[in-house]
Formats: sequence, C-alpha cells, structure tokens
Amino acid sequence: NRQIVLNSRPEGEPVADNFRLQEVDAPKAKQGEMLLRTIYLSLDPYMRGRMSDAESYADPVAIDEVMVGGTVSQVVESHIEGFKAGDWVLSMNGWQDYAISNGEGVINLGSQPQNPSYALGVLGMPGFTAYMGLLDIGKPQAGETVVVAAASGAVGANVGQIAKLKGAKVIGIAGGAQKCSYVKDELGFDACIDHKADDFAEQLAKVCDSGIDVYYENVGGKVFDAVLPLLNTGARIPVCGLVSQYNATELPPGPDRLSLLMGKILTKRMTMKGFIIFDDYAHRYEEFATDMQKWVQEGKIKYKEHLIEGLENAPEGLNDVLAGRNFGKMVVKINNP
Ligand code: NDP
Repeated sequence: NRQIVLNSRPEGEPVADNFRLQEVDAPKAKQGEMLLRTIYLSLDPYMRGRMSDAESYADPVAIDEVMVGGTVSQVVESHIEGFKAGDWVLSMNGWQDYAISNGEGVINLGSQPQNPSYALGVLGMPGFTAYMGLLDIGKPQAGETVVVAAASGAVGANVGQIAKLKGAKVIGIAGGAQKCSYVKDELGFDACIDHKADDFAEQLAKVCDSGIDVYYENVGGKVFDAVLPLLNTGARIPVCGLVSQYNATELPPGPDRLSLLMGKILTKRMTMKGFIIFDDYAHRYEEFATDMQKWVQEGKIKYKEHLIEGLENAPEGLNDVLAGRNFGKMVVKINNP
C-alpha cells in the first residue's frame, strides 16, 4: 500500500520535502468494514490549508499522517451491508492505494457508473460548492451581472454555467487566453477577462457596464481589488475561497484597503458571506444532486477534467492547482480499475 504522508509543514509554496512516499502493508477489513482500492484522487485548494497548523475550520493533517483527500475507489472486499466487491464509491481515502472504511460518509456509485470521476467534480464537492454558494448566497436574478474568477476551474465553471441557466449576464475571470476562450466559447459565458493582462481592471470595468450584482469570490488578491469599485448597491458576495493567498507567508503589500471595503459595504449595502460547504449545506445535498445530474445529462452543464497519472505526481499536481497550471478539475488516476 503506497501512501503519501505529510513529512513537514510548508512555508509558502509546498516543496517535495513536505511530502513522503512510503510503502506499508495493505490493511485488512474486519466485520463491519470494507477494503477500498483508490482509482481517482481529487486535488483541491483546501489541501494547502490542511498542511498548515494555523487555526482553521478543520484540524490540520498531522505530521506523518496520510494526506487528506476525496477519492473514487472500488470495493475490494466488504463486510458491510449495501456495499459489495466491485462497487464504485465516493469516499475520503486520502493519498494512498488502499483504505479501510466502516461505510460512514461513503456514497455508493453502483457497479457501473458512467463517469466515476465526475463524483469528485461537477457531481460532487466542487459542483455542490458552486451550486449552494451561488444560489443560496449570491441569489442571481435574471438580467443581473454575475462575476466569477478561476472561471475554468472546478467550482468557477459551474458557478458561471448555473448563473447563465438563471438568466444572468455572466463574466468570467481566468488566467491566460486559452482558458478565457474556453470559458466564453465552450462554457457560454458572456465574456471572460484574463487577470494577467496589464489592463485587466479596465477590461473588467468595460464588460461590466452595468456594474456587478453578484461577485462569487474564489481568489481574492488583485482580482478583488478590480471588482470592488464595480459592485452595485445591494451586491451579494459569496466568499468561497481565496486561492491567490493560500501560499502567502505575509499580508499583501500596499495601502490598507480595509476602510475602503467597509465603506463600500456600508454605502452600497452589500452582503459578504463566507461558507464551508459540508458544514453549512450537507442537508441540501439531494437538491443539488437532482438538479446537477439533470443539467449534465441534458448537456446544459459542461465539465472539463485535468487528469494526471500516478500517486507520486500528486504533490506537483497540488502545486499546479495553487498556481493555476491546471485546466479543469484536477484529478489523479492512482490505479487502473
Ligand atoms: P480550481 O480548479 O479553480 O483551481 C484553482 C484556480 O485558481 C487556478 O486554476 C487558477 O485559475 C486560480 N488562481 C490561482 N492563483 C491565482 C491568483 N493568484 N489569481 C487569480 N487566480 C488564481 O480550484 P477549485 O475550483 O477547486 O477551487 C476554487 C476556489 O473554491 C478555491 O478558492 C477553493 O479554496 C474554494 N473552495 C471552497 C469551498 C468551500 O466550502 N468554501 C469548497 C471547495 C472549493 P486561473 O489560471 O484561471 O487564474
């Protein structure tokens, strides 16, 4: 059983020495347990937070502990009712080949799911995050302008496509021309602006000619600086993530913009609300699953995966996500089915 454990805590961008690949005996399933073999591992920005022991909404991964992660795996052997050998399941095996589970929190995807890995993306946690943050906090109305960054990514692509289904004008923000044309031409956003362009803020202001009613916050940093002056009275800002800051070791330079932000919140009567998807919305999962499965089947929501191979490549894959080198939902194929 190959495992990647946390070897040391990173300062700034994670380096190879923060991880350790080790080989241990494969675990055995007892009564009331099942043995799972990992096929796909999801790589997500939150994993950077778990590598740090700074206070957060979830406990950090301990040193020498297997890195946390959502997985799609297959049941090898089961002593639990409702799971049989060969079933595909969505679970949290972490960064390893095999795991033992008592079935708690495990979703059975059946013996022949159409696209098993979709359970890590559009039909799973990132899709759910997009759906709830946008609809419950953002509350887009037809004709309003919705802006989302990391627009080609796992969460952002769904935010924009759902907002389009609700009749909003949707502007994406992404890194580079290739991602921007995908977001506009394939996903059907009204426009997509490259945040690496020198005149990014001017370009954003130009396409948001009626201001911004919903800003779905995925990245923070200079993207938020460009968005802030464009927000309309009554704007809603679901605060989902701040991925541009996850490797930061100090506060960003420049003038303190806190009073500017507070002034805007006051005078524009804006709502900013953070959320942690399963802590806040677990009870609404069925609603999401029903809508999203239908939208994907009907071709109303498109989905792109960035698939890499091999457990040993997971650390580099995580850095790629944090630096924007992924194009679509980052998934690692750990083993062949
Ligand atoms: P993505 O697949 O979107 O990958 C991250 C993307 O962030 C990169 O591809 C890159 O896109 C963008 N990015 C990275 N650095 C910067 C930067 N400095 N400036 C602008 N953009 C940057 O990841 P996810 O869809 O999985 O996650 C998106 C956000 O949602 C994250 O902040 C994550 O933490 C958050 N999240 C929150 C949850 C919650 O419960 N609150 C649950 C799940 C996710 P590009 O190249 O286009 O800039």
